[in-house]
Amino acid sequence: MSQQYVHQHLSPLGPPVENERAAVRRLRRDVDGAVHVPFEVAYDRERQAPYSDIDPRPVAVVMATGSADVRAALATAREHGLPLAVQGTGHGTQAASDGGILVKTTQLAGVLVDPVRKVARVGAGAVWEQVIAAAAPLGLAPLAGAHQTVGVAGYTLGGGIGWLSREYGFAADSLLRAEVVTADGRVLTASADSHPDLFWAMRGGGGNFGVVTSLEFRLHPVARVFAGAAFFPGERAADVLVRYRDWIASAPDALSTAVRLTRLPDDRQVPAPLRGRRVVAVHVMFGGPGEEAGRLLAPLFEAAGRPLLETFRTGAFGEMDMGGTVPAHVNLLDTLPDPVIDILVATAARPDSPVSGVEIRHWGGAMGRPGPHAGPVGHRTAHFSAILDARLPEVEAVLRPHTGGRAFLNFLQDPDNAVAAYTPSDYRRLREVKRAYDPDNFFRLNYNIPPA
Ligand SMILES: Cc1cc2nc3c(=O)[nH]c(=O)nc-3n(C[C@H](O)[C@H](O)[C@H](O)COP(=O)(O)OP(=O)(O)OC[C@H]3O[C@@H](n4cnc5c(N)ncnc54)[C@H](O)[C@@H]3O)c2cc1C
Repeated sequence: MSQQYVHQHLSPLGPPVENERAAVRRLRRDVDGAVHVPFEVAYDRERQAPYSDIDPRPVAVVMATGSADVRAALATAREHGLPLAVQGTGHGTQAASDGGILVKTTQLAGVLVDPVRKVARVGAGAVWEQVIAAAAPLGLAPLAGAHQTVGVAGYTLGGGIGWLSREYGFAADSLLRAEVVTADGRVLTASADSHPDLFWAMRGGGGNFGVVTSLEFRLHPVARVFAGAAFFPGERAADVLVRYRDWIASAPDALSTAVRLTRLPDDRQVPAPLRGRRVVAVHVMFGGPGEEAGRLLAPLFEAAGRPLLETFRTGAFGEMDMGGTVPAHVNLLDTLPDPVIDILVATAARPDSPVSGVEIRHWGGAMGRPGPHAGPVGHRTAHFSAILDARLPEVEAVLRPHTGGRAFLNFLQDPDNAVAAYTPSDYRRLREVKRAYDPDNFFRLNYNIPPA
């Protein structure tokens, strides 16, 4: 039973069941969109958080059709003393909306592309594949991640790192404007000229500052890219990583890479040369000709030996399947010291290891060169992330001295540790903006930043 729910039982608003029923009646009266309640099929479908262990049990799920519905849900939540949560896809939901009102943005999924200004204006429920599909015919692309089913809103508000980020920055850096319903029920436009402090905070501060109903962001001139992976025997992992850490210093911004150590199943769906093997794979996306990528990658591949398989090709950005490692344990690193390489390689190699995937990803480039007005995306100076698909205390102990406890909001597992995702000065300023726009921490079912 969640703390909010216990609080409800002690509430002066009358018996909780009556209070919740009254809230649902009010929602049904004031909201244009559907209102789903427990035991409805749609309720179970919409409340899910598929990538989290939580099993949210809100009082009602509100399928918002616009900012008026969000305002009505917010007013109902406030009047009935219920917490409010917001969700698009549920990919990043880490705090349960138990005993509260869950606002779903799924129906706010319109996508408009302005080819002259090279911007996209999207509803808060849009997912990346819709934006990629709308932008691609114009030779443009958004700063999406590899998984195109991720929601634009949660991804962008939490920073957003994708395969184009070394060249064009974090997704939050390309945000130009957001329409947002604030904790006091105002509908505001946040941009460089309108509520600039709120706009700053929303470019990395997550869902702390209001419910976003639409966003406008820059698109970038990316049509075709060279991408794919080269797979080598797992025994080469240490050699590849040692060369990678030195070779990476000369990589241009247009070249994005990750090294993945994986155990592949003995399964017919896995290409024959890789089936049942431990492999080290170098994943690449390059915004230039394949020959140039080959020249840039040659010194790295020399250390790796003969590949078991290569999947490189030139094609549309949105058609490239870059895969990814499930982020159970994410570490931001400035370098790849020997002890880090050793523990990652040993962990991936252990036959009984609960870790079946390790990804070392190169950051830097434009992400590390924010403009003077950039938002609070944290730890821009990190050069690498090391992502493991399971947590192991012995690995955490070796990595901790090298990570400085830093986190990236979108990959944070612990909703109570948002502080780890920011520099101290950004975190202080975020708490001040929170005090200005949400002084009683109404928006708290998220990676919470408490008001100053
Ligand atoms: C398979 C997978 C791959 C991923 N890959 C990447 C990646 O490559 N790069 C990266 O940066 N991240 C990545 N992520 C993390 C992802 O960006 C976050 O989980 C993000 O929060 C997902 O946003 P969403 O809107 O889809 O999720 P939701 O669960 O719908 O939302 C997550 C949170 O975002 C906030 N939020 C969402 N919508 C709104 C809104 N309209 N107004 C206010 N707040 C809102 C809320 O706090 C909410 O709890 C990945 C996640 C998964 C599951």
